[in-house]
Amino acid sequence: MPPPSAPRPAAAETVALGAGRRTAYLMVLVVLPGVLLALAVPAAWGWGVGPRDAVIAAVMYLVCIFGIAIGYHRLFTHRAFKCRRPLRIALLLAGGLAVEGPVGLWAAEHRRHHKYADREGDPHSPWRYGDGGVALVRGMLHAQAGWFYTARQRSNRAHWVPDLLADPDVRRFDAAYPAVVALSFLLPFAAGGLWSLSWEGAWSALFWGGLVRYAVVHHVTWSVNSVAHTFGRRPFRSRDRSSNVRWVAFLTLGEGWHNWHHVEPTCARHGVLKGQLDPSARLIRWFELAGWAYAVRWPDPARLAAARAGPDRH
Ligand SMILES: [Zn+2]
Ligand SMILES: [Zn+2]
Repeated sequence: MPPPSAPRPAAAETVALGAGRRTAYLMVLVVLPGVLLALAVPAAWGWGVGPRDAVIAAVMYLVCIFGIAIGYHRLFTHRAFKCRRPLRIALLLAGGLAVEGPVGLWAAEHRRHHKYADREGDPHSPWRYGDGGVALVRGMLHAQAGWFYTARQRSNRAHWVPDLLADPDVRRFDAAYPAVVALSFLLPFAAGGLWSLSWEGAWSALFWGGLVRYAVVHHVTWSVNSVAHTFGRRPFRSRDRSSNVRWVAFLTLGEGWHNWHHVEPTCARHGVLKGQLDPSARLIRWFELAGWAYAVRWPDPARLAAARAGPDRH
């Protein structure tokens, strides 16, 4: 027994991932979204997407992407603001609907990404295999989705997210995660059925607002890991190759302004330069004005100026 004053040994950063779990990741995170996206093309070509399905899919998309950006990422992973409990729970649920895993696991992988960004130990750097040609294409596929299957180690929650493991709301949410996944598909199914008063409407809303939306949301989220660590501008000095990509920022509702985010991960605003629209930061601001969010970490102009790279990197 160590003396009581001795520091407790730190939990390992990663834990081994069993073959069963890796195969499940392969199906749910790599194969199935690809198949669904491939199916969506002939479906859209042959029958089109009616206005009802388009509205349901768009609402689900916005809820999921805001849930990931504001909830999973800025609130729970980086503590960029605090908020009242009903909003916290709503943000947890919205993030969970994106089917990207329980928040504890998501945050653990992402905190490890920040610590080792684009270096040995980063779970999903596009630069893993080398700097150009085939190696970079391979790296981008790895960063986009390949790492879910190829990684033999998973970030250990006990090491990376002890704060979330100690949070009763997070614990309850993570335990109920399978039900949240079911809800992610039941909601569009029910919305389509009730709106059209038909089973046919329910099934087609499940396809567009449930299955296709889940595949699109996944690949949009992951484009931050691949594209916004490869292409685009780097106006700030960061230790990694995080970058700003306008179309990724548009699709992810602000997350594609990734360069500043790596300089100051706890900042609630990612798009900090002129013309960088960040709808997620705007929504956090509205929550703050409504009194639901507080202690928001807005960017500090002095820090911004100090972190700017030379004019040649604009
Ligand atoms: Zn990153
Ligand atoms: Zn982050």
